[in-house]
Formats: sequence, structure tokens, C-alpha cells
Amino acid sequence: MKVAMIGAGYVGLVSGACFAEFGTDVHIVDTDASKIEALRAGRMPIYEPGLERLVEENARDGRLSFTTDLKAAVRGADAVFLAVGTPTRRGDGHADLTYVFAAAEQVALAADKPLVLITKSTVPVGTGRQVKAIVRAARPDLAIEVASNPEFLREGNAIGDFMRPDRVVVGVDSDRALAVLKRLYRPLYLIETPVLATSIETAELIKYASNAFLAVKITFINQMADLCEKTGANVHDVARGMGLDGRIGRKFLHAGPGYGGSCFPKDTLALARTAQEMGVPATLVEQTIAANDARKAQMAERVIAACGGSVAGKTIAVLGLTFKPETDDMRDAPSLVILPALVAAGATLRAYDPQPAHARQMLPAAVQFADSAMDAVRDADALVLITEWNEFRAIPPEKLKAAMAGRVIVDLRNVWDPVAMREQGLDYSSIGRGEGA
Ligand code: NAD
Repeated sequence: MKVAMIGAGYVGLVSGACFAEFGTDVHIVDTDASKIEALRAGRMPIYEPGLERLVEENARDGRLSFTTDLKAAVRGADAVFLAVGTPTRRGDGHADLTYVFAAAEQVALAADKPLVLITKSTVPVGTGRQVKAIVRAARPDLAIEVASNPEFLREGNAIGDFMRPDRVVVGVDSDRALAVLKRLYRPLYLIETPVLATSIETAELIKYASNAFLAVKITFINQMADLCEKTGANVHDVARGMGLDGRIGRKFLHAGPGYGGSCFPKDTLALARTAQEMGVPATLVEQTIAANDARKAQMAERVIAACGGSVAGKTIAVLGLTFKPETDDMRDAPSLVILPALVAAGATLRAYDPQPAHARQMLPAAVQFADSAMDAVRDADALVLITEWNEFRAIPPEKLKAAMAGRVIVDLRNVWDPVAMREQGLDYSSIGRGEGA
């Protein structure tokens, strides 16, 4: 079976490499020549644990190749995946489907035999039908089946998620499309992964409904964290007490500075817009979006308050910038809201992140970058932890105390122990751990 994967981003590259690992012949296409050049030279255009080795081994064994030539990749393909971006459209919050539609047409024009065109990008319900119309108009002569196969991997654990997913969702309206998708995912049958075959519309909506539900869950616990702070309760224990109930589940109940990333913010917005258009306002999702936006902005206020009401002229160390650990992805990261607000309030910022490539481009020029956590912390008046990379957990409070000029530590991910911090005389605050906690 020959597969073409259109898009060499976080999803296209990981899922392409994983299909190759399953034994499929995969050709990954991207319009960005610098990404393809890097991949051919064995350099990863993104940071994702384990990816380099997976790509290297499969490329070496001849199952995985990279090209900017979409036509060549699609020629002879049995299945073509669309894994291009679907960012928020400027102005109205809708998913921008320009890349999806353009790629679908390019694939149809390049096809030289019947194939299955599978949308892996996250697209609003109804998009599959539009893709079908585009394909049919471009190639009325060829049997191109359209299918939906939303992706649920998480950056930072993408390979494990792809290889051992909770489920695979395939939206199909033909037996041939279902047969091709089943063959592609055959190795997962062996580990008894549930494969849910639905209509295309249902598959599209499962993806948005899942992301929106997780965003609601995070926002809910964040609001409970605020209540914990006012009442002396401990949000960790609240989350654990809730999560042990099988109906609720323990995951995605970690309080923090608000969700970010390349999916939740844009997907919740797009779902809310779709629902509004259909006359079914998704008020819960709308409230979640508003609460999360407000929360990110409040985090800068929290830091300023911890610094005694002003950060003007103060040097603040910032640890962790990416939207979560183990990725270099900065899309919609809370740091993109918090750092500019602190700069505007007059602070000097010295930041450190283990994967700072995108952060350097996206944060204000005034932000200085340190080469290590302790370099950032040295002589700082205050310290803010935004992203919980593991290496930060291991820093002992006495080391922080010895390095810093000031005493203020604001831990937006609850990685440190409040008692140990206070024992060192540090003025430590975290999320949802009230005085009594
Ligand atoms: P990305 O921006 O990292 O990658 C998209 C790639 O597609 C880019 O490299 C771009 O150059 C390329 N591209 C665009 N048009 C093209 C064309 N016509 N031909 C060839 N290449 C083209 O995006 P991503 O994070 O991989 O996300 C892709 C999709 O998957 C989105 O819809 C996203 O919502 C969804 N998704 C993402 C994640 C995630 O964690 N990143 C998880 C699940 C689903």
C-alpha cells in the first residue's frame, strides 16, 4: 500500500513516520522546502521526543520519504492523508479551510488512479462534504473516495499516542474507504484498539466535541482552584477526590494558567462558531473560551500582585515558555499573554525554556533568553514558572533562595512543595493551594 501524507507538521510527520513503522510505504509532502530539506538531511523541523530515531530508521529502510513534489507523491497512492493546518480564520473564529481545500484539489488533480482521500486535519462538521464536491469537480473521471480520520495525538507524547491510541475514529461513506483505513490501522487491531466507524460528519464532530470537553474540564478545575484559594482548600485533593470517581476520571484536572496550544483554543472557537451558525449556541464552550482568555490575562496580574503591586524596574526570571513540556510549540501558549503584560508593566524578563526556538521568534524582543534555568534565576527579584518541564521540578528550594536576589516565587503549575518553599523563607504562591493547604 502506498500512502501520501500532505503536510509535514506535528501531525503529518508523526503519523507518517508511525504508518511507515507499521510497514506502509509513506511519502510525506510539504510546500515548505526548508522542512523537507531538513528532513532529508535527518534534521527534525519540530521537537518531539523519539521522532528523530523513528524517522531515521524508517527513512533508512526505504519506507519513508520526503518531497515538495505533491504530484509525484500522489502518483500510484492508494490513500492520501490531508494533515495541513486549520488555523483560526482572522476576524470570525472559524477554522480556516484554505489549506485543506487547496490540498484536496491538488491531490485530485494529481491522482492517476482511484484512491481514498482522508482528512486527518481537524475540520468543522460538514467539511468532508465540501471536500467531496471539490474532488468531484476537479476529477469527475476518477473514483476518489473521501473519508475522515481525526487525530487525537498529544504533542510531547505523540508517538506513544499514535501507536497506542484510546481509539481510532474513521468517518466513511463507502466500503472501500473503510477497507483501506482498516488495512492501514491493522497493527492496532492486534493490540485491540477500538476502531469506531461512523459517518464522515460524526467523525468530524467527535474530534471537536472531545477537544471542547477537555477544555471545559481544564477550565472547570481552574475555577475550582480559584475557589480553593479563597477558602483554604487544596485543588490537588479536590481534583483527586473528583477524579477517583470513574464517571469523572482523573485526567485533565490539573489547575494552571489556562490552556493553550495549537488545538484547544482554535478548536473551541471553531466549534462555537459552527454551533452558532446552526442555531444551536454551545454556551458552555463559549463560556469556557471567555474564562480561559481571562485567566491567561489574570496570571500577569497575579505575578504583579505577588511582587507587591508593581514590577516596574524588577528583574523577573521566567521558567518554561512552550504551551506544555516536551514540545517546542508556542501556539497560543499562556506565556504569549503573560510575558508581554509583564514587559508592559516595566519588568525586565530573563526567560529559559529547554526548546526556545519558536519562543525566541514570538516573544517581545525585550525578553532576554538565558541558557539554563539557574542562569535565568540568578539575581532575579522574582521567579515565575509557567511550563512544567521536568528539569524544573528537581531544583531544590535552597538553590533558588541562594541564587535569587528577591524572595517571590509564583508557581503557575504547582511543581514545588509549598512547605519546603516556605521553610526556606521564600514568598511562594501557587495555584489553588489556599493557606490551609
Ligand atoms: P502544522 O502547522 O505543524 O503543519 C501543517 C503543515 O502543512 C505545514 O508544514 C505546512 O507547510 C503544510 N502544508 C500546508 N498546505 C500544504 C499543501 N498544500 N501541500 C503540502 N503541505 C502543505 O500543523 P499541525 O499541528 O500538524 O496540525 C495539522 C492539523 O492536525 C490541524 O488541523 C490540527 O488542528 C490537527 N491536529 C493537531 C494536533 C497537534 O497536536 N498539533 C493534534 C491533533 C490534530
